[in-house]
Amino acid sequence: MCKTYGDGAAAVRALNDVTLEIAEGELLILLGPSGSGKSTLLNILGGLDRATSGVAMFRDRELTSLDDVSLTRYRRADVGFIFQFYNLIPSLTARENVDLVGEIADDPLSAHEALDLVGLGDRLDHFPAQLSGGEQQRVAVARAIAKRPAVLLCDEPTGALDVHTGVRVLEALQEVNKRYGSTTLIVTHNADIARMGHRVVRFLDGAIRSLEANVAPAAPSDLVW
Ligand code: ADP
Repeated sequence: MCKTYGDGAAAVRALNDVTLEIAEGELLILLGPSGSGKSTLLNILGGLDRATSGVAMFRDRELTSLDDVSLTRYRRADVGFIFQFYNLIPSLTARENVDLVGEIADDPLSAHEALDLVGLGDRLDHFPAQLSGGEQQRVAVARAIAKRPAVLLCDEPTGALDVHTGVRVLEALQEVNKRYGSTTLIVTHNADIARMGHRVVRFLDGAIRSLEANVAPAAPSDLVW
């Protein structure tokens, strides 16, 4: 798969012939320096962007040939997103932020179940401003998993957090991956995080430089970062 932004002299080749097969239920870390193409790949896999050439498949569906309506349906039904900044609605409580997703999903977890899973079952009625950054990110994790997505895409989920709160967020992601089998991709430039994945894909200049398996993925609390 290739992705080029712009054209002519200003063209940027964000992905250069990337080939990758991801197993159902896998926790995959996409590691590499800023600008190496990680978010571009994540956005194409999540149906937020389109490849310039090549094919992206989800199960037996070819994402690269779906029209906008079908791509939106895929995003809604099958994909949960977590970004570096939590994008919570400030005037809604934790429970209400998570409940919003319930309105567009078929068989959602209740907000209580989803918030319990990320360790915030006692903060249902708190507003984002009453929660720490790490807690807000865990609400964002709860919101993403409430629809039990087949695919969970996380772009620098701990990028704005200190070590301690970052670990809690990663624990929540690992737990969701184990419990619901959501295929989970975590984009990071932090090499320490890599050890918690089943596999690590290293990016450089829009290409995959290496692909390694972790025989025994580490618990986030054992990562030093
Ligand atoms: P990473 O996630 O590894 O930091 P990105 O996938 O965001 O990298 O970016 C890869 C390359 O594509 C970078 O050179 C970036 O500047 C460029 N790029 C990303 N998005 C756009 C865009 N919307 N328009 C133009 N260039 C972009």
